[in-house]
Amino acid sequence: MALQFHSVPVTPFQQNCTLLWCDDSKRAAVVDPGGDIDRILKAVEERGLKLEKILLTHGHLDHVGGTAPLSRQLNLPVEGPHEADQFWIEKIVVQAQMYGFPPVETFTPDRWLKDGDTVTVGDEVLEVVHCPGHTPGHVIFFHRASNLALVGDVLFAGSIGRTDFPMSNHQDLIDSITKKLWPLGDAVKFIPGHGPMSTFGQERQTNPFVADKRFG
Ligand SMILES: [Zn+2]
Ligand SMILES: [Zn+2]
Repeated sequence: MALQFHSVPVTPFQQNCTLLWCDDSKRAAVVDPGGDIDRILKAVEERGLKLEKILLTHGHLDHVGGTAPLSRQLNLPVEGPHEADQFWIEKIVVQAQMYGFPPVETFTPDRWLKDGDTVTVGDEVLEVVHCPGHTPGHVIFFHRASNLALVGDVLFAGSIGRTDFPMSNHQDLIDSITKKLWPLGDAVKFIPGHGPMSTFGQERQTNPFVADKRFG
């Protein structure tokens, strides 16, 4: 398998910051560097990887808080999320104070993503799917060749993303999951923003919020 991954839980929210890398080239992306940059860089170094970019699923502090310093330190371009999350990225400074995080800096991504875009990690290609609901600009990354999705805070093992934030929308979230994620296939393994991995098939069976029987 040419795409490899390793998750490093970061921040007090134990957010699954994930390294993705191309086995052939060892070139890597860091997805959602919410903080604890030293731990992320240690994981990069231990695996002999060469970081080439930062990918972001959505604009929440625990997913993007480490982006500005990491991007500056290693001169990494930032791709994602969708532009509709710009207001969240602008708010992270205030959010950090509110949640008692260390001070953070805001930033502007080099590339906003939209539905149907692709992003590369080394020689590997991932598809971008816009999945609004938890935040309006949330995107997920899907590697079709290995049936792996990084879904941020859209879907968790046994749960779904919160929708009690400004500009959240519960029905949009349900539609994102059932109309955009499920068609990718039951066999898809996913890394959520928090907690353990699961598969779409497993969640369609057992997730109390989005199991098929809820809508049958
Ligand atoms: Zn979130
Ligand atoms: Zn989160």
